[in-house]
Amino acid sequence: MRALLLLAALAAAAAATGVETFVGHQVLRVVPGSAAELRSLRELQELEHLQLDFWLLPRGPGAPVDVRVPFASLQPVKAHLEARGVPYSIMIEDVQALVDREQMQATRRRLLPTSTTTFNYAAYHTLDEIYAFMDLLVAENPSLVSKLEIGRSTEGRPIYVLKFSKGGTKRPAIWIDTGIHSREWVTQASGVWFAKTHESDEVLASVLDKMDIFLEIVTNPDGFVFTHTKNRMWRKTRSSHSGALCVGVDPNRNWDAGFGGSGSSGNPCSETYRGPYANSEPEVKAIVDFVKEHGNIKAFVSIHSYSQLLLYPYGYTTTPVPDREELHQVAEKAVAALSSAYGTKFKYGSIITTIYQASGGTIDWTYNQGIKYSFTFELRDTGRYGFLLPASQILPTAQETWLALRVIMQHAHDHPY
Ligand SMILES: [Zn+2]
Repeated sequence: MRALLLLAALAAAAAATGVETFVGHQVLRVVPGSAAELRSLRELQELEHLQLDFWLLPRGPGAPVDVRVPFASLQPVKAHLEARGVPYSIMIEDVQALVDREQMQATRRRLLPTSTTTFNYAAYHTLDEIYAFMDLLVAENPSLVSKLEIGRSTEGRPIYVLKFSKGGTKRPAIWIDTGIHSREWVTQASGVWFAKTHESDEVLASVLDKMDIFLEIVTNPDGFVFTHTKNRMWRKTRSSHSGALCVGVDPNRNWDAGFGGSGSSGNPCSETYRGPYANSEPEVKAIVDFVKEHGNIKAFVSIHSYSQLLLYPYGYTTTPVPDREELHQVAEKAVAALSSAYGTKFKYGSIITTIYQASGGTIDWTYNQGIKYSFTFELRDTGRYGFLLPASQILPTAQETWLALRVIMQHAHDHPY
């Protein structure tokens, strides 16, 4: 009882500041062993009043499902599973404890960076800090790095892309984006590290002899700011479409490839809400316009977390892409390179065969635009911390991912089309 009162007091204190807290929330893992167990999970998904947040969505028998359960819903959810004989385990005992730890580590550095050399790559940073980092990088490398504003977010924030180029116009190019889902913090942190590492990488130097590289580090700036100020678990954009009860669209269901199909939701309150129409989100539209206007992008890599996967199209249809064999081989090589650093194991394959049907996803659209080398990553981990990956894992994650990116970039460089 005393613990309950304490939780209630903490929640009330947090509510007063408008910051969402996760006191007593648990992340449960269920590995459905049968179609019936999978059905009981899907039943839970339909119960909106429980306010469940699926970190890993139900996909099929044998595939883990992670779900953040608010304190008030723990009892009914556990009872639901137990009544149906579905086993579960507790992955995270108290989500807020991890959020607090992350916050404590972050407050150790609250100054804007003054140089990219002294910048702390092993910490999670705010939007202002990352934008300041970009300006420093450009100022320190004026002949190679420039910053483009490709659009504005729903809340009016500039959307920036770093361009790495040795010159020439409309050279064949490689695109990399991180952070389209705002709570996947290890991705933006890795993007920052990728941007800095160009200075010392030989493979990259040879790629840049023929190609340009575009890097969008904070692909969903409104959502990212929201994860820092209001709700650490925010995934979507921050748009409000007319009449919708809930805020935000899943920017990885908003692309014009199988838009509206299975594996996306028409419910504005869902974490996979596709939006009212394709490209409704300015953050997505900005990339669409950029890719079309550029016209010579040869590789497109969109980076998410978590699950440790390297995926290629399609997500919206089971029809294999014509380049399946080549993409599979590239993925195999990339994953082997990644593992060579710390032994981290990645699975690979097409989206629909490796995870689940997902419609309106980024790389299905880019592939259909003729960008053959379209890939998406799900970085560390496999669920121990999920989106709350400790900052101590940023550098190893970025380093191992970079080895895989190098394989993809080198392959695109060596196989012009
Ligand atoms: Zn994601």
